[in-house]
Amino acid sequence: MHLKKDDKVIILTGKDRQKIAKVLKSIPKKSRIIVEGVNVISRHQKPTQSNPEGGVVKKEASIHISNALLYCETCQKGVRTKLKIDEKSAKKIRVCSKCGYEFDKK
Ligand SMILES: [Zn+2]
Repeated sequence: MHLKKDDKVIILTGKDRQKIAKVLKSIPKKSRIIVEGVNVISRHQKPTQSNPEGGVVKKEASIHISNALLYCETCQKGVRTKLKIDEKSAKKIRVCSKCGYEFDKK
């Protein structure tokens, strides 16, 4: 999984194409992510005791990770990343393949 929670991504396809938003959740088993405000679907809810009118609830549906790219602030576009071992922490971090920006350093 090269995209994870709190990543900023750009959407490549569909009605939310070119939208830049935050990943709310990643589902590695299905290679899918849920992105804030992207692929929003309306679900009709039956009336319940607490909500006797029922109504429409809007909720983000997941998208396949191939439909999004990590957004690089420096390049100002979606980029592919490569992995590199950080010298200090010895952890794997993601690096922009174009400008070398290191994403997982905080
Ligand atoms: Zn970059």
